[in-house]
Amino acid sequence: MIDLVSDTITKPTLEMRKAIAEAEVGDSQRGEDPTVNLLQNAVCDLLGKEAALFLPSATMANQIAYKVHTRPGDEIIMDRFSHPIHFEGGSPAFLSGVMIWQVSGERGVFTEDDVLAAIRPDDPHSPRTRLVSVENTHNLGGGKVWPLGKLMDVCTAAHDNGLDVHMDGSRLMNAVVASGVSAREITAEVDSVTICFSKGLGAPVGAALAGSKAFIKEARRCQQVFGGAMRQAGIIAAGALYGLRHHVERLAEDHANAKLLAEGLAGENGIGVDPSDVETNIVYFRVDGAGMSAIEFAERLKERGVRMGAYKDGRVRAVTHFDIKRADVIRAVEAVHKTLS
Ligand SMILES: *Cc1c(COP(=O)(O)O)cnc(C)c1O
Repeated sequence: MIDLVSDTITKPTLEMRKAIAEAEVGDSQRGEDPTVNLLQNAVCDLLGKEAALFLPSATMANQIAYKVHTRPGDEIIMDRFSHPIHFEGGSPAFLSGVMIWQVSGERGVFTEDDVLAAIRPDDPHSPRTRLVSVENTHNLGGGKVWPLGKLMDVCTAAHDNGLDVHMDGSRLMNAVVASGVSAREITAEVDSVTICFSKGLGAPVGAALAGSKAFIKEARRCQQVFGGAMRQAGIIAAGALYGLRHHVERLAEDHANAKLLAEGLAGENGIGVDPSDVETNIVYFRVDGAGMSAIEFAERLKERGVRMGAYKDGRVRAVTHFDIKRADVIRAVEAVHKTLS
């Protein structure tokens, strides 16, 4: 099976498993796990933040961030196709009791004017606007990288109006590799940032949340409350650390493979795809022109040994990752060709 359903399906390599097996561990709830501490320090260095917290998932990292930044009844501004709206089980409402103002961005990227227009008046009738949340790269936006200038403008608009900014940087390292801009530069003006280790970086478990010392102090309390405070978590932190040290530069390979896939698909009759939209490792395309629903297409493609994701909105998603080689992409395009003919 050539599995393009997600970059979360990668399994730890032999070398990563070795690092995991040899990890020094301790009670991380007491701050005594040396591998967790090493990872948290590495994340601080990477992102230029004062403090960081190792967590079981990026969902938890985002939700702890929302909890710390807001109070019940507050409102968060984010793009309407953001991950926390669609794939985190309604948790902003469930866990933090917040409202979300959905902005219509361009593949997940919105503007300072969108932020300014969304800010509520200081009036007891209105929810209190508290936070802007940006997603970089943007998943449903097709792995779109936030242009640095636009990001800085959004941060300035937010800060000028007393709002904090959170970045869901689950795929931040894809943005770094695609843009050539350092992670520190990208996150310089955001108040908190999530990164995920179990996507392109290939670790089996884990994410991190970074921010100021005061922010992480509160986040540490929420980690306990949400049940995310772990014990000998160095076992999994070792995989994350290994991914951070060894699997960042190779993301360029995933990006080249995604581009190759999009170009191959563009040559097929009945497929709607724009290869110039592919900036990182995610390819969305439509099959309407082939007289097939996305779900039907994905089912038939799977019978030919290639798995992709089908969405209700009629789009098909293919994601490249560690376990996908160039030859797999070529075979995947051949399988698509046969599925359509
Ligand atoms: C995958 C993902 C998450 C959640 O990550 P988990 O570690 O699976 O909880 C959050 N945001 C974005 C943009 C993602 O792609």
